[in-house]
Parts: sequence; structure tokens; C-alpha cells
Amino acid sequence: MEVGRRLMLINGQWVEGRSGEFLAVENPARKGSIVGEVPRGKEMDVDDAVSSAAKAFESWRQIRPRERGKFMIQIGEAIETKTNEIARITALETGNAIRTQSRPEAMLTADIFRYFGGVASEIKGETVPLGENLLSYSRREPIGVVGGIVPWNSPVGLAALKIAMSITAGNTLVLKPSSEAPLAVLEVARICSECLPPGVLNVVTGTGLECGLPLARHPLVKKLTFTGSYEIGRTIMEAAAERIVPITLELGGKSPQIVFPDADEPQGVEGVLLAMRFTRQGQSCTAGSRLFLHESIYDSFLEKLVNKLKSLKIGDPLDESTDIGALINRTQFEKVCSFVEEGMRQKGARLLTGGIPPKEGPLSQGYFMEPTVFSNARNDWRIAQEEIFGPVLVAIPWKEEEEAIRMANESHYGLAAFIWTHDIGKALRTAHRIESGWVQINQGVGIVPGQSYGGFKQSGLGREYSLEGMLESFTQRKSITINLQF
Ligand code: NAD
Repeated sequence: MEVGRRLMLINGQWVEGRSGEFLAVENPARKGSIVGEVPRGKEMDVDDAVSSAAKAFESWRQIRPRERGKFMIQIGEAIETKTNEIARITALETGNAIRTQSRPEAMLTADIFRYFGGVASEIKGETVPLGENLLSYSRREPIGVVGGIVPWNSPVGLAALKIAMSITAGNTLVLKPSSEAPLAVLEVARICSECLPPGVLNVVTGTGLECGLPLARHPLVKKLTFTGSYEIGRTIMEAAAERIVPITLELGGKSPQIVFPDADEPQGVEGVLLAMRFTRQGQSCTAGSRLFLHESIYDSFLEKLVNKLKSLKIGDPLDESTDIGALINRTQFEKVCSFVEEGMRQKGARLLTGGIPPKEGPLSQGYFMEPTVFSNARNDWRIAQEEIFGPVLVAIPWKEEEEAIRMANESHYGLAAFIWTHDIGKALRTAHRIESGWVQINQGVGIVPGQSYGGFKQSGLGREYSLEGMLESFTQRKSITINLQF
């Protein structure tokens, strides 16, 4: 066990679960090998964590926002000195390659804390001009105990986001990382706990049903923030509806990339690959997995794309020369393979590269998959409509701009989109008509703190990642009106 046994953080203490049971965390790059283990937290542990957060809230909310911001900046600085360790643990438990994914994520984590620390004093209210004899103003107040639940694909970045937004705004937090990738989150929590008063941040580990659901349903949790799949998002929303608590949902996607004829060039190809997140095995909510290519460049663009993909190195996530690591676990691996099989059976589809991985050889030791591209796909096929969350791209030709926009919008998701053209007028016209929360033109990078982020349609509810997102999602507005003639 490279990382070993880690405990949960409740009320500033590192504790085992009350059941005394532990969950093993597998290394996806070496099937069957265990990286570490964490407590199997259950309802009683969640209750302890929420009680500790409720108690800490009374004093944490009194601390001036600028002071709370200082804590965040201190945490950001401390994380920066530990990025290599955080990146190594992330690579071990997620299979995400250290150079292309895990280290950039650890660096982003430090940035997230610094960003929210910097904007902490912007938690301001307004005055309302109701006449000379009235003073009416508003305050942004914290909500209380936040229940945060995050997935495994970008575990520390998403955990940092929930921690920084909740706590900077004056709330306290109980965070539940995914049982697939809790170890690096606990490392970040360790750094936070050295800076914060006890109970302000609590981290419980366990399965979704045993630990996540009791957290979502806990009567003292006054706000829910969830990042994960559409299916579980609905469950969390039902829990929120039971007691009418505010909720933010960051869910899945099946994001379109529209390539115009003038973008048939190496930079366009590199950008499309980046946007598809092939170097995170396609395991990204914003992955641009539906590629709409103009028919005039269809073959030449795909040829360049496939050549480029073949030059990427798949293998040990800890090797600095690796571009692409392993998928998270067997379940996900089998799910992605079944989508690939379905694509291969689909009449008219052409498998250009990738496919079902070999059952023997070095890559069969982990959940590795080659980047897979299907051409001549149709937008109504399941492989073009469902979130595969793996390295599978479908390429669909188009003739008229209208047709490309219509197909791009024919999805129940609406998280991200990518447009590739030098004609900025055309790019902006298209961007305005796309039904997605985030459209990138001529780039396919990850989100930067300060940009409000969230989905249209079934990709989610509410916005996070920015000052505005923190204000909207993690504070509640109170109006106060004073009659000056009394
Ligand atoms: P998931 O929905 O299965 O799990 C997410 C979290 O919810 C985990 O911590 C899990 O333990 C917990 N959970 C599971 N069942 C639960 C239940 N019944 N009650 C309470 N909690 C429960 O998602 P995943 O497989 O971990 O992650 C992949 C998904 O996350 C994809 O759909 C992806 O698009 C999405 N995602 C979205 C964003 C975004 O910002 N929009 C970012 C990253 C990932």
C-alpha cells in the first residue's frame, strides 16, 4: 500500500468509522493492487460530522470575510508546497497521468484556494433607494452546514472548490469524496485542518449509499452541493426537495465540438484532442465527445487526428513521459467497452482507431484503453447521445451551419461546447445559439477560477467556481429596511 491507511476528519480529529470497517482503494493501473484504505463511514459518522460542523458554524460565521479569506490564502500557499505529493497520490488512486493531469490538478487546487481567499471581502450587500426617509440594505449571510459530495475524476480540484466556496462564504462543510478516490482529498483536508478551527471542515469517507445519502438527507445540512452523474444528481435533488434546502448540481455532459472548414490545421486537431480530454481517458464532464466536422474537411481532419492520437503514450500514470493513464475501475472499464462494442455493431459506423483493448500484454495489467474514434456516426445513436465517460469520440459530418447547430443542441445535456474557426463573427453567432453553460472558441482547456461554471438542461443547476457563483450558491440574501422617521 503506497499510501497506507488514512482516517476521516471530524471535529478536527482523525477518526476511524464507528463500525471499524475500512474500504480499500485500488490502483487502476495495476488491477488488484491496493493503494490505501479509508474508513467505511456510515450514518452515525455522518451525524457526528454534521453535528461538529453545526457547532463550528456559530463562531465561524462571526469571523470577518477578509479574515476567512486569509485562511484560504494560507491553505493555498501550503498546498503549493505539497503539489508533488498530492499529484502522486491522485495519480495512484485515479490512474490519471501525473504530467498531463494530476500535477496540473494539484496546482489548480492551490489556485482555487487563493482565488476565493482574494475575493472574500466581496461578499457585499446593496443599498436600495427607497426615498429619503427609508434606509434599505441587504446582507449576504452564510447558509449553515453545507453537505458536499464529489466524484473521482478530478477529486482534489472539485473538493477544493467545494471547501473554498463554502468556507469563505462563512458556512461550515461536511465533504464526502468518492470511495474510488478519497486519498488525495484527505491529504488536502490535512493541510486545511492545520490552518482551520476544528469542525469548520469535516471529511467523511464511504460509499454513496451508506455515507453520501445520509449526508444529503441530514436535517442539519442546510445546503447541498453535488458534482457527479445525472442519475445520482436526481437522488440528491429529491433529498433537497424533502426539506427545501438550496442545491447546486454539477452533472454530466456530452459536449459538441463544431469544426468549420477553415480550422482544418494541426492546431485545430491538437485543440480538439485536448477538448476531448483523451489525456484524462475521456473521464471529464466537459469532454467534447461529439465531433461535428464539415464534410469538406471530414477525411483530412480525421486523418490528422488519428495520426496524432497514435503518437500519444499510454501507460504508468507515475511515469513523467506518459500522456494517457488508466480508467478508474473495472465497472467503468466494462461500461466503456460495452459502448465500444455497441459502436462496432452499429451499421455504417467505422472504427478508425482504438477499440476493445487486448486481453494480454502490459496494458492489460491495468484498466487501460486506447483512444477510440468512430466515424460516419449519427447523432441519434446511443454512443452519440449517452455520456460514455471514456476515451470514445464520435465524428459526425455536416453540410450547413444550421444543421451543425441543430445537431449540437440535440442532447439532453448542455454543459460545454467547442467551436473551431478563424471567422470570429461566425464563431460568436454559433456560440450564442449553442445550449451549453460554457462555450470555448478555438481552445479546449479546463475551467479557470473566476469563470462561473455550470450546465444548461440536464447538466445541472446553479453556478459555481466564481465570486458570483459563491454569492449565488453559498450565501443567502437578507434585506433590512429602517424607517428613519421613527
Ligand atoms: P456518481 O454520481 O456515481 O458519484 C458522485 C458522488 O456521489 C460520489 O462521491 C458517490 O459516492 C456519491 N453517491 C453515489 N450514490 C449516492 C447516493 N445514492 N446518495 C448520495 N451520494 C451518492 O459519479 P462518479 O461516477 O463519481 O463521477 C462521474 C460523473 O460525474 C459523470 O457523470 C461526470 O460527468 C460527472 N462530473 C460532473 C462535473 C461537473 O462539474 N459538471 C465534474 C466532474 C464529474
